Amino acid sequence: MKVLFATSEAHPLAKTGGLADVSGALPAALREIGVDARVLMPGYPAAMAKAGKLLEIFRIKLPEHGETALLVGAFPDSGVPVYFIEHAGYYAREGLYQDNSGHDWPDNAMRFGLLSQFAALLAGPKTPLDFRPDVLHCNDWQTGLAPAYLHFESAAPTPTVFTVHNLSYQGIFPPEELKQLGLPQESFAIDGIEYYGNLSFLKAGLFYASHLTTVSPTYASEIQTETFGAGMHGLLAARSQDLTGILNGIDMREWNPATDPHLVAPYSAGNLAGKAAGKLALQTELGLQVDPGTPLLGMVSRLTTQKGSDVVIEAVPQLLRLGVQLAVLGGGEAGLEIAWRRLADAHPGRIAAVIGYNEGLAHRIEAGADVFLMPSRFEPCGLNQMYSQRYGTPPVVHKVGGLADTVTQATLGNLANGMATGFVLDRLDSESLVSAVNRAVILYRHKLAWQKLMRNGMARDFGWTKSAHQYLGVYKKISQT
Ligand code: ADP
Repeated sequence: MKVLFATSEAHPLAKTGGLADVSGALPAALREIGVDARVLMPGYPAAMAKAGKLLEIFRIKLPEHGETALLVGAFPDSGVPVYFIEHAGYYAREGLYQDNSGHDWPDNAMRFGLLSQFAALLAGPKTPLDFRPDVLHCNDWQTGLAPAYLHFESAAPTPTVFTVHNLSYQGIFPPEELKQLGLPQESFAIDGIEYYGNLSFLKAGLFYASHLTTVSPTYASEIQTETFGAGMHGLLAARSQDLTGILNGIDMREWNPATDPHLVAPYSAGNLAGKAAGKLALQTELGLQVDPGTPLLGMVSRLTTQKGSDVVIEAVPQLLRLGVQLAVLGGGEAGLEIAWRRLADAHPGRIAAVIGYNEGLAHRIEAGADVFLMPSRFEPCGLNQMYSQRYGTPPVVHKVGGLADTVTQATLGNLANGMATGFVLDRLDSESLVSAVNRAVILYRHKLAWQKLMRNGMARDFGWTKSAHQYLGVYKKISQT
C-alpha cells in the first residue's frame, strides 16, 4: 500500500497546532505497519532546513504560479520521506497562514492551491515520481482542492481520503480565484466547490474525496448536526456512509514523562517523585508561590473561543476562592491574550500567563500541573487532554468530540473500577467549570484516590498503532488493494 500524505504542516518541521502532530506521527505509524507513506508539504525554508540533505527532483515553471521545484528529504527522527514544494514567493515567510498581526496572507488561495495541485499531480497518472500512490490522503482545507483536480483530470481518479481536523477553517475565497486555480467553471456549483457564492477549499475536499474521515467518532457524528456542522452539516450528513471517525493518537515517545528532556526530573506511574519536583520547578519558573500542597491548574492552548478560555477567565474569581493556582500558556486572539496578561498582573504568585508558543514549557505544564483545563466549546479530537493523562495530570474537559471519547468521568463507580481518568462537564459555563474543578480539588486532597486517578490515565494507551490500522482499513476499502 502506497500513500501520499498531503499536509500544510508537520511536526517537527512546521507547526501551528494539532494537524502538525498528526502529520508528523501518523505517516510514521503507517510505515511501521508496512504502508509506504510519504509526506508532501510546502517548502517553508525553516522546515526544509530540518529535513536533512535535500535532493531536487524536478523544477518547472507553472503558468499560474511561476517557478516551482520539488525536493525530497526525510523527517529528522522518524526518517519518513518528505517532498517539499519549493516556491520562494509563496512559502519563504515567517507565518504559515498569517502575518505577524494575525491577518491571513492575501495569496493563501494560490499558496495552498499550489499544494493541492502538486498533491494531485504526484498522485495522478502523470506523476514524474517513481512512486505512484494507491491513495492520496489530504488534510484540512489547505489540501481540499486536490480531490477536485483529480476528479476533473480523469474518469478513474486515484482514490482520495480527506481528513477534517477542524471544520471551522474552511478556506473560503472569492469566486474570481477559480480561474487562476485552473479549475473548470462547472466545479463552481452547489454540487461542487461553491459555498454561498464563494469557493471553499474545505467543501471541495468534502465533496470530491472518495472517503472522509475526521479525528474522533463523536466529532464525526456531531458535524452532521447544525450545532457543530459549521454550515457543512447537510453535505456531511449526505455523505455519512463515507464518513469515519478515527481517533488521533499521540506520539508516545515524545510525550513520555520517563524520558522527556524538557523536564527537571523524569517520572512514571511507578515512581511519581519526579512529578512533584516538576511542580516545584514550574512554580519557580513561572513566579508562582512555591507550595507543593496548592493545587495547580494548567492550560496550554491556542487562545481562541473554541478552546473555552473565555469561560475560564470568567470563572477565575471563583477558581481562586477554591485555593488553586493557574499556569496558562497560549497565544491567539488579542482580547484573550490581554485578559490573561491582566489577570496574571492582578494576581501575582497565583496566576501565571505566558503568551506565545513554547514547546518546552508546554511539556513542563503538562507534567508540573495537578489538573489540566480543556473546556473546549467543540473539539475535533484534542491532543492536550491525552498528553495530560499520560503525564498523570487529570484533565477537566467539556463533553464534546474527542474529549468525550478520551476522558472518563471520575464518578464513584469509575473510580472504584479503575476507569476514571478526569472530570467531564455536560454543559460549558463558568458554574459547571467551577463545580468540576471543585470536585477535582476535593479528590486531590485524598492522596491515595488521586494517585489512583493519575495512574489510570497514565496506563492508557494513546499510541498511534490502533488508528494506523483503522486508516489502513479505509485505504484498502477505497483502493481495493
Ligand atoms: P489544536 O490543534 O486545536 O490547536 P490540539 O490539542 O489538538 O489543539 O493540539 C494542540 C497542539 O499544539 C498540542 O501539541 C499543544 O501542546 C500545542 N500547543 C498549543 N499552543 C501551544 C503553545 N502556546 N505553546 C506550545 N505548544 C502549544
